[in-house]
Amino acid sequence: MTHIHDVVIIGAGLAGMRAALEASKVADVAVITKLYPSRSHSGAAQGGIAATLKNVDSDDCIEFHMFDTVKGSDYLGDQDAIENLCNEAPEVIYETEHMGVPYSRTPEGKIAQRKFGGHSLHHGKVAANRACYAADYTGHVLLHTFFEQCIKQRVRFYSEFQAVGLIVVDNRCLGIVAWDIQKGGLHVFHAKATMFATGGYGRVFKITSNAHASTGDGLALCLRAGLPLEDMEFVQFHPTGLYKQGILLSEGARGEGAYLLNGLNERFMERYAPTLMELAPRDMVSRSIQTEILEGRGAGPKKDHVWLDIRHIGEKRIAAVIPQIRSLCLNFGGVDPIKQPIPIQTTAHYSMGGIPVTCDGRVIYDEKNSLVEGLYAAGECACVSVHGANRLGTNSLLDATANGRRTGRTIANDIGKLKLNALPENPMEDTQERIGRVAGSTGREKVIHIRHDLRDSMEENCGVFRSGERLQKQKQILKDLLERYRQIKIDDQSKVFNTDIMEALELGYMLEFSELIVEGALRRTESRGAHSRTDFPKRDDVNWLNHTLAWRDASGQIRFGSKPVVIKNYQPMERKY
Ligand SMILES: Cc1cc2nc3c(=O)[nH]c(=O)nc-3n(C[C@H](O)[C@H](O)[C@H](O)COP(=O)(O)OP(=O)(O)OC[C@H]3O[C@@H](n4cnc5c(N)ncnc54)[C@H](O)[C@@H]3O)c2cc1C
Repeated sequence: MTHIHDVVIIGAGLAGMRAALEASKVADVAVITKLYPSRSHSGAAQGGIAATLKNVDSDDCIEFHMFDTVKGSDYLGDQDAIENLCNEAPEVIYETEHMGVPYSRTPEGKIAQRKFGGHSLHHGKVAANRACYAADYTGHVLLHTFFEQCIKQRVRFYSEFQAVGLIVVDNRCLGIVAWDIQKGGLHVFHAKATMFATGGYGRVFKITSNAHASTGDGLALCLRAGLPLEDMEFVQFHPTGLYKQGILLSEGARGEGAYLLNGLNERFMERYAPTLMELAPRDMVSRSIQTEILEGRGAGPKKDHVWLDIRHIGEKRIAAVIPQIRSLCLNFGGVDPIKQPIPIQTTAHYSMGGIPVTCDGRVIYDEKNSLVEGLYAAGECACVSVHGANRLGTNSLLDATANGRRTGRTIANDIGKLKLNALPENPMEDTQERIGRVAGSTGREKVIHIRHDLRDSMEENCGVFRSGERLQKQKQILKDLLERYRQIKIDDQSKVFNTDIMEALELGYMLEFSELIVEGALRRTESRGAHSRTDFPKRDDVNWLNHTLAWRDASGQIRFGSKPVVIKNYQPMERKY
């Protein structure tokens, strides 16, 4: 079956729906999503969204936000894109307020703002109150508000359709092929403009804060269509995942004053970031936690975690501003954080890299920024790059919302000029063949076993600290896992809600782009932001102040290229907090 729309957006998180709101002002827009829209991972975001509203710190300003974002990115962020992000942030927030987002309030009734890691006043002197929030349900309220607005604006949703193929002919995108999860069967979505907003891929790791659906599908579909991915070696590990589960305990807790303590009850961040302490950027705090554990100062019988202590914040304030943290601890960790410190460990959280795009959300396919006509991307699946080597907390909801809006506007501007180019004779051929191969597999390997081996080994060999030796080992493990993947067996042969096939497809995607994460990390012989090599502990601006581009051909060969970083006002400096 073929559906025709002016615009097809894959993904109903904040980026996809914010873009849909813009594009649908002038065009017929369809949003394809493998989950029901309000189940998108954006809804799990807790702590806040950044903007210099000056509601708490009157001396905050947009330039401080830019500086913090550039420094936080370890100077790999593109400064033109960062300028756009920080300049647009206040307007973007007020727009969401006017759409109906119920933000928490200051006593005078303004949008409340709190502290978050790496956000500061006067270039690092003191922590800034810059995160707008709705208790610790910020993503949830934004997502529901955007969904309501999309319905009001008659955006067409195709829920529980999984994109499984991208149709690109001669650098012109013509739409996608999607699998109808509910009924089974392939559909073609033919469009003038196609946009990816498919979110992140934390599920590649064992301990992760990400939802089950965060499997990086959009990235893999671009790779398979011959397009490159950017900066895939940069994966953010959040400092405070609930011990053993990885469930996120928002940085909002530290923004409200929570301490990190080691097994000796020391506030160990004094040693690593004496000024901002627990509110240093995530890459630093995560490394500090790992260092404490590796040097034997962890907590518990195995000394394999540390504590997050929120007791001094008090029951009343906790109930008002971080209630979800308490309920997550009670329900999933069996601890009451009002009475006890919370056991935590680092958790794979965010992908800085992704589909390379221009500041306006247009997908590029080479080092010269050549454009794929009619293809766009925004949100966590895209690499603009506003986060560089390390994202600051609250800048991602902002990125998804601001760059979702920007990309939606680009599409609205382009749509008059774009034609509905003819599809190839059999646009589903490749996809049909691939799915047929997966669905009909009768080998001996179970998808779940390969998936566990992938997650465990990535955690072990490509985590917070990396080394050439470990990465080489992981490169070989991935080759072996890809070989085993060719021998899988699908038990469920029905068409309706066949999650076996979905999971097998997602595993294939993750195996393919994990090779880019690992080989990109192996190639980058320096430490920058979230990419920390024990054998190359220093940042190397002479050789590595550039973005990685990586392609993977059908035979699995990986090719690397690079792109310069856009530097405007801020020259790279040493990063101290
Ligand atoms: C627990 C948690 C807490 C967070 N807290 C914060 C915070 O406080 N502040 C902050 O700034 N950031 C936070 N983040 C990060 C931020 O929430 C995300 O980066 C951001 O919401 C991503 O939005 P998105 O629109 O790009 O993707 P998502 O919200 O992940 O949406 C992805 C969409 O793509 C669809 N999709 C994926 N693959 C396919 C496919 N093959 N076919 C069809 N549809 C597909 C899904 O159905 C979904 O609708 C948090 C993240 C997590 C995991």
